[in-house]
Amino acid sequence: MDQPGVSFEDEYGLHIDGRFTPPSGGEYQPTRDPATGEPIASVAVGTVEDVDRAVSVAREAAAEWRDVPPDERGRLVHRVGELVDDNAEELAAIESADQGKPLSQARSDVAGARRYFEYYAGAADKLEGRSVPVGPDQVDFTVREPYGVSAQVTPWNFPGNLFARGVAPALVAGNAVVVKPAPQTALSTLRLAALCAEAGLPDGVVNVVTGFGDPTGEALVSHENVDTITFTGSVETGQHIMKRAAETITPVTLELGGKNPAIVFPDADLDAVADHITTGIFTNAGQVCSAVDRLLVHESIHDELLDRIVRIAEGYEIGPGWNDPDLGPLVSEEHLERVHEYIDVGREAGATLVTGGASLDRPGYFIEPTVFTDVTPEMRIAREEIFGPVLSVFRFTDEREAIALANGVEYGLAAGVFTSEITRAHRMSRDLEAGTVYVNAWFGETNQTPFGGYKRSGIGREKGLEALDSYLQTKNIAIGLEDEADSLPGA
Ligand code: NAD
Repeated sequence: MDQPGVSFEDEYGLHIDGRFTPPSGGEYQPTRDPATGEPIASVAVGTVEDVDRAVSVAREAAAEWRDVPPDERGRLVHRVGELVDDNAEELAAIESADQGKPLSQARSDVAGARRYFEYYAGAADKLEGRSVPVGPDQVDFTVREPYGVSAQVTPWNFPGNLFARGVAPALVAGNAVVVKPAPQTALSTLRLAALCAEAGLPDGVVNVVTGFGDPTGEALVSHENVDTITFTGSVETGQHIMKRAAETITPVTLELGGKNPAIVFPDADLDAVADHITTGIFTNAGQVCSAVDRLLVHESIHDELLDRIVRIAEGYEIGPGWNDPDLGPLVSEEHLERVHEYIDVGREAGATLVTGGASLDRPGYFIEPTVFTDVTPEMRIAREEIFGPVLSVFRFTDEREAIALANGVEYGLAAGVFTSEITRAHRMSRDLEAGTVYVNAWFGETNQTPFGGYKRSGIGREKGLEALDSYLQTKNIAIGLEDEADSLPGA
C-alpha cells in the first residue's frame, strides 16, 4: 500500500556489494504502517550465510577503501549528503509511513542525516596522528588507522538518522560497514544504502542485511571478521552484544536507553518549560532515547506547571504521520501493549493518572499523551524506560533532593535543569550523572555535539568529532636512528 509522497516495492532484498540481492533463505517479512497496522512492503530476512557474505564483501572493500585518498573519501561521503538532500521528501515520507512519526519530525530526521554526511565529510582529511618526542635515537609518530569492518546494529525509532550517525564517521575513517537495521523499520536504511551506491561509493563499502535480532543480528555481532561494533538499542541487547564481542575481543560502542530527568526550579519561565517538556516527552510519541521521562518539579510550582503541561497534552492532534499531527502512533502492536502495561503498573503502584492512558478507537497503534504525578522513586514507572508518551512527575523540596532523585536510576543518558540562576545551573550540571545536560532547553544536541551515556546508558560517544574515535585505532611507529655500525656489538 502506498502512502502520500512515496511508492513502495512489494519486496525489498538485502543490499550487498552495491546492489539489491534476494536473501539466501528466500524469506521475507512484512513491515507495517503503524497508523493502520496494514503491511506496506515485505523485507528480506537475512540468514547467517547472507551475513557471512556481507562481511566478506565488506572486508575486501575495506582493504581498498582505506587507501582512497582522504579528500576523495570526504568528497564521496559529502555526495551522499547531497543525495539525501535531493531525495529528502521521499526519505521523510518513507520514514513517516514505516515508523509512524509525524512528517515534519521525519523531515527533521532526514535533514539531520544529511548533516552527518556533510559534517564528517569535512573531517576525512583531518584525521591526523601525533609526533612523540622520545630523544635523538628514534623518530616516533602515531597514525590513526581504520579498524576494517564496522558492524552497525540500529533500533526502530530513528532508523535513517541513526544510519547516517554511524555510517558517515565510519566511512570517512576508512572502514567498510555492514548495517543491520531493526526489522520493524528497515525501509529508510535500504533507500540510504542505495543512495550511497548512487553517490559513487565503491561496491561493498556499505552493506545492509535486514532481518531479526536472531539469527541476523546475532550472526553479525559474533562474526570473527567484524572488527568493531556500533550498537544502538536497549540495555538488554547491548549487554548481550557485549558478551558476544568479548569472545572475539571486538570493541563495542553502545548507545542504550535512558530514564532522563528534568529538574524545574521556581525561578524558571514556566510557559517555556511546559513547551520544552511536552516536546521532550511527546516527540516521536516518546520513542526517543533522550526523551524527558521524569519531571522533577519544586513543590511550590508543581500544580502550576502540571496544569500547563496537561493543557498542551490535551490539545494535541493525534493521527497518522503523513497528516503531520502533533503525535503519531507507536511503532508496533507489541510496543503499544508494552506501554499499556506500564500505564497499568503505574496506576497499581498508586501514581495519579492526570491525563491520557487510553488507546484511540481507530486502527493503528495510537495512545494518548499520558501524564502521571505523585510518582515515587521505588515505582517501576520511575525506574524503567517506558519508551512511550508517558511523563512521570515527582516533587522535590531542595537541590540536594532533586539531584538524589535525578541520579537515583541505573541510566545516565540525558538530564536537564530549568532555572534562571546561573550558579545553580552550573552546580546542577556538574552533579548530574548524564552524558548530556540541557539547561533551559531540551534536545539541545546537534550533529557536532558528542552524545552518549553514563552508567548503563552506554559506552563511547556518537556524534561530534569524538565519534571518530570509535572508528580509528592508533598505531605507534618507532624508527630507530642509531647508526647501524655504531650499534654493532663491540663497535
Ligand atoms: P532492541 O535492543 O530491541 O533492538 C535494537 C537492534 O538490535 C535491532 O536491530 C534488533 O533487531 C537488534 N538485536 C536484537 N537482538 C539482537 C542480538 N541478539 N544480536 C544482535 N542484534 C540484536 O532496541 P529497540 O527496541 O529496537 O530500540 C529501543 C531502544 O533503543 C531503547 O532502549 C532506546 O533508548 C534505545 N535507543 C538509544 C539511542 C541512543 O543513542 N542512546 C538512540 C535510539 C534508541
